[in-house]
Amino acid sequence: MDFKSVIRDIPDFPQAGIIFRDITPLLAHSQGLSSIIKAFQAKFAEISIDNIDYIIGIESRGFILGAPLAMALGCGFVPVRKPKKLPSAVFRVEYALEYGTDTLEIHQDAIAAGKRVIIIDDVIATGGTAAATAKLVEQTGAELVAYGFLIELDFLNGRKSLPNVPIISLASY
Ligand code: AMP
Repeated sequence: MDFKSVIRDIPDFPQAGIIFRDITPLLAHSQGLSSIIKAFQAKFAEISIDNIDYIIGIESRGFILGAPLAMALGCGFVPVRKPKKLPSAVFRVEYALEYGTDTLEIHQDAIAAGKRVIIIDDVIATGGTAAATAKLVEQTGAELVAYGFLIELDFLNGRKSLPNVPIISLASY
């Protein structure tokens, strides 16, 4: 499937000058999710990434893509959430945005040390969110094996902010 032909561009959302890449038409397509998951699996297999214990999905569109990928790989799914959503003890990371800061959390007991994980999100823009998630994974003692994104905004070069592991994306702008 040509993902870009089904992803919708919304200019000036959520603020002037941003082109929002809206994946809802792709999710609504009868073959959309299954094509995304098959494409992720093929790309990870191509670079011999296997024996994954957990997919880490970043709230909230990382949940939509990460959960079916975990099913397809036969591994677990762990959510990384915005503050005050997770009920048990959490590791927390605060990271800088253009204006202000944001916070993400993971359950402290979600992943045992040494487990192999992949971080999944819909879009990598500046890379700040994905880099912060790697810091949470580090706190659990798990091994970050790879990143997977549906969309990569190449011109922002978010990759340069990420740890040195394979990064795959299915559509780039
Ligand atoms: P960043 O931390 O800058 O890499 O931003 C990544 C997060 O912001 C992802 O979780 C995306 O959902 C969202 N995001 C950033 N830029 C866009 C965009 N142009 N279109 C859609 N989502 C975006």
